[in-house]
Amino acid sequence: NPILQVENLKKVYSDGTVALNNINFEVHPGEFIVVIGPSGAGKSTLLRCINRLVEPTSGDVVFKGKKINKIGARQVKQVRREIGMVFQNFNLIDRLSVVNNVLHGRLGYTGTIKGALGLFSKKDIAEAEEILERVGLSKQKYKRADELSGGQMQRVGISRALAQRPRLILADEPIASLDPASSKIIMDHIFTICKEDKITAIVNLHQVDVAMKYATRIIGIKSGEVIFDGQPSHLTKNI
Ligand code: ADP
Ligand code: ADP
Repeated sequence: NPILQVENLKKVYSDGTVALNNINFEVHPGEFIVVIGPSGAGKSTLLRCINRLVEPTSGDVVFKGKKINKIGARQVKQVRREIGMVFQNFNLIDRLSVVNNVLHGRLGYTGTIKGALGLFSKKDIAEAEEILERVGLSKQKYKRADELSGGQMQRVGISRALAQRPRLILADEPIASLDPASSKIIMDHIFTICKEDKITAIVNLHQVDVAMKYATRIIGIKSGEVIFDGQPSHLTKNI
């Protein structure tokens, strides 16, 4: 069964911008999908419609068999717990420790208060530490987030997504703010972790060469429409 179905999805922003038009695709468990397309193509809007940061204008987003475009705020929260999000600009809380940022994803605002008061459970902390070890950040776990390099910040971003124990990870241009060496480390971590933990991934990128290297499937979008959907080996250079 597909983990995600996107059906006739359309997003028109309030200023009339048609960001997505008639988007259709299905995602199966274990796929590592890279969405490529130029800036302004609608990649970010697509991911935001999937985790409901943006409300679609029409069409359906079906996650694990359930339509999520018409659910209430409480259920949106529940769905978001199962969908890990990784951002271009990391979206960390600068003044908090690495561990606290990681647990923030799972525990939300309550987590922030708990962390500030030193009230995380041993189990929570042990789990955060285990995840941080996987991405090579053990030594940094009690540093403040704003003391890290960009590549390290994104490894915290990945760890935060993982702490939610997601079924699906959505990464929106996760390497666009990073140098080539850090970019490779980050893509390797996302790819390896998704494979090991059987997490399905949709990663927005604008670099075709990076997409070709990691994707099990590439979706090309341009001006809000899907113009390619298939195996990397079938991708022609006209995107
Ligand atoms: P990409 O991620 O591929 O760069 P986006 O999804 O960010 O594309 O943007 C798609 C189009 O929608 C662009 O024309 C962009 O300017 C527009 N857009 C994005 N967000 C908004 C918004 N909040 N309001 C109006 N237009 C927006
Ligand atoms: P990104 O490509 O990383 O989404 P942008 O600079 O395009 O970064 O967008 C930053 C924020 O502004 C996003 O929340 C996006 O939805 C919003 N945005 C983008 N384009 C527009 C637009 N034309 N009008 C209003 N908001 C926009």
